Amino acid sequence: MIRVPFSRVLSGRRWLEIALDYRCNLRCLGCHACHDTGERLASSEALAWLRAGREAGIERLWLGGGEPTLRGDLVALVGAARQLGYATIAVQSNGMRLAYPEYVAALLAAGVTEVRLNVKSHRSEIHDRLSGEDGCHALMLQALALLQKEGVRVLADVLLTRGTGEDLPETVSFFAERGVAGFTLWLLSAADSDDPAVSGAVPRIGDLVPHLSAACERARARGVSIESLHTPPCTLPADLRGLHRPAASLALVVVDPTSRAFALETSSFEGGARVDACTLCSARERCGGPRADYLRIHGGSEFTALTPLGAKVPSSTSGSGHVGGEPG
Ligand code: SF4
Ligand code: SF4
Repeated sequence: MIRVPFSRVLSGRRWLEIALDYRCNLRCLGCHACHDTGERLASSEALAWLRAGREAGIERLWLGGGEPTLRGDLVALVGAARQLGYATIAVQSNGMRLAYPEYVAALLAAGVTEVRLNVKSHRSEIHDRLSGEDGCHALMLQALALLQKEGVRVLADVLLTRGTGEDLPETVSFFAERGVAGFTLWLLSAADSDDPAVSGAVPRIGDLVPHLSAACERARARGVSIESLHTPPCTLPADLRGLHRPAASLALVVVDPTSRAFALETSSFEGGARVDACTLCSARERCGGPRADYLRIHGGSEFTALTPLGAKVPSSTSGSGHVGGEPG
């Protein structure tokens, strides 16, 4: 059942993301999108959202989950989206089912224009361990080779953990060599998790900076894009701040398996936990602030107000470090 008036939630949005359900054939560290709640967005409801998205002028569709390739109606939904006129139809996947040529051919024939692969590392042992399944890195590479052969645009959503940050430059080179056109970095989140193994694997942004810097150089050298979703500008040196991609800038509305719709930036997985420094910061309009789980694990000492010219306001003035807000 569709619970929110379409026009209100879709207005002004550029992307429509539909999470069809929360089933997955992997069990990645810290994943909150693979706990099967039994909820399934019916094909008819997904179609209704697809129509409403186009009526609202949205041209970009993101099909996620869970693992969307487990849905028997995925090819039909992609075909419907193509008929409705979506210019971009992205499928976000762990790549397991995309290792099968007939399935890839069916998805591409239906109209998929972009595949986003969930990547942890160029090292198979690390990728497999963090994904909870031996052999899934090998299958993802088979998928990548197939997608490359078919000429479809492939992007990588790369999970940053304490164990993968150091490898990031090499991971970027490895996947760029295999045809990945762009990288989006996702900081592991411990929101909704009381597992110490997850909290303990959330990296400190300051420790990632040298690896982010080297990864940007590799991306530049290869001519591929790179952006980072959960590293506010004040946590990065001035020459790296362009890497930060605020969730709000995507103008993405998410529809979950219960047909609830919400703007991506309102999710506590994206930010919204303001510190005192945010109130004085010139970046506050475009930056969603830190995540609450990050502050719980690492504190707020890395967050410092920025002046309009990008200088860091001294902490005695900006009150940096004091956690002053609640998650959005
Ligand atoms: S592939 Fe995606 S949905 Fe599945 S467990 Fe990993 S992060 Fe979660
Ligand atoms: S101080 Fe707050 S608003 Fe400014 S860049 Fe840092 S997290 Fe974002």
